[in-house]
Amino acid sequence: MSCIFCRIAHGEIPARVVFQDDRVVAFHDVSPQAPVHVLVIPRVHVESLAASTSEQDALLGHILVTVRHVARALGVAENGYRTVINTGFDGGQSVGHLHAHLLAGRPLGWPPG
Ligand code: AMP
Repeated sequence: MSCIFCRIAHGEIPARVVFQDDRVVAFHDVSPQAPVHVLVIPRVHVESLAASTSEQDALLGHILVTVRHVARALGVAENGYRTVINTGFDGGQSVGHLHAHLLAGRPLGWPPG
């Protein structure tokens, strides 16, 4: 299995997991861009948001619900946070397995680079 996030989902390489269930895994980003930087991935391999199918609509919703849950659990929901899904080359996606970033713990600039 070559996909690094599939390997994390299968427990084959370590990650600092903060939440998981039968459909998603949430873990701390290895190169945090904010005091809180968590990634939420589906266990199933989906290349990107653009590559997802209508059969995966509920899964996409569950990823956002998980972001909401993790933000509350980590105590950042009140001050606020940013949820980012980089998609494709222009979107800056570097890992080809769908993931939502949860960034929090400092004021975040806008627009992004
Ligand atoms: P993106 O650029 O949107 O594709 O984001 C990929 C993210 O995955 C980056 O923020 C990386 O720091 C993060 N990342 C890559 N490998 C790992 C890993 N083994 N464990 C945790 N985060 C990772």
